[in-house]
Amino acid sequence: MTRRLTMALPSKGRLRQPSWSLLEASGVSPQEPGERVLQAHCRNADIDLLFVRADDVPEYVQDGVVDCGITGLDLVSEREANVEVLLRLGYGTCSLQAAVTMDDTATSFSDLNGRRIATSHPRTAAKVLSEMGITADIVKVSGSVEIAPSLGLADAVIDLVSTGSTLRTNGLRSLGVLFESEAVLIGRKGSDDLAAQRTLTTVLGSVVNARANRYLLCNVEKSRLDELTAVLPTKGSPTVMALATEGIVAVHALVPAADIWSLLPKLEACGATSILTLPVERMVR
Ligand code: AMP
Repeated sequence: MTRRLTMALPSKGRLRQPSWSLLEASGVSPQEPGERVLQAHCRNADIDLLFVRADDVPEYVQDGVVDCGITGLDLVSEREANVEVLLRLGYGTCSLQAAVTMDDTATSFSDLNGRRIATSHPRTAAKVLSEMGITADIVKVSGSVEIAPSLGLADAVIDLVSTGSTLRTNGLRSLGVLFESEAVLIGRKGSDDLAAQRTLTTVLGSVVNARANRYLLCNVEKSRLDELTAVLPTKGSPTVMALATEGIVAVHALVPAADIWSLLPKLEACGATSILTLPVERMVR
């Protein structure tokens, strides 16, 4: 880091724990990680941390109270914050979905035209709907959005969904996704400390990339090497090494963690043996 950077982190809520664990895995965790601490210095890096609500992070960064921060992309959109999204962090994933009651006749977004929609994301909802040419009466609520239809407050809701179970529990049916969100690292636009911001983005990004991948090792008969490399979901070239046993080679490759499930049977079908997958600690492209 070239100079002390200030960074806002969620002090509570869903994004707190995974944000702290990302800093920990990146080797820049807070020195005093107590529940009630509002400010702390980072171990191993010139970063001052400020713990605030995730909702407040976009404004703090935009107004220059801090240089950067972690928050939800939905909150950046809703606050219409003039900030730079530096990095997608791969957790806090959810989507803003439109939903109606089970007995409603609506089957698509266009069926929401002219209807009352309750949401705690009124700006994003209005923007996305207007881009689709839909005019609706947006009812702003700050919590428990899902019960708005049963209270007679609205005909439909636009709410954050991760698994969909809250919608189902409240007797609602999704019409589809309007906006995809996840936790993001944001930075002040036109910041005078771009070098420090870039270093932080690289350090956190190396862990985010690593988490999304696994290091694969396996052995295969040399005669089936082409068959095996053809099924690898790998962008780069795999490493191929000769083994002491004649005719067998070891293959090492970085593969997306999400592909492991479908990849293992394909590797077995190519005759691969001694298949190992290992977590990766850091990955800088
Ligand atoms: P908090 O209200 O502090 O718990 O944080 C809410 C933020 O967590 C939202 O703005 C989203 O970015 C993220 N999030 C992830 N999954 C969900 C979900 N199922 N419902 C609400 N927020 C979610």
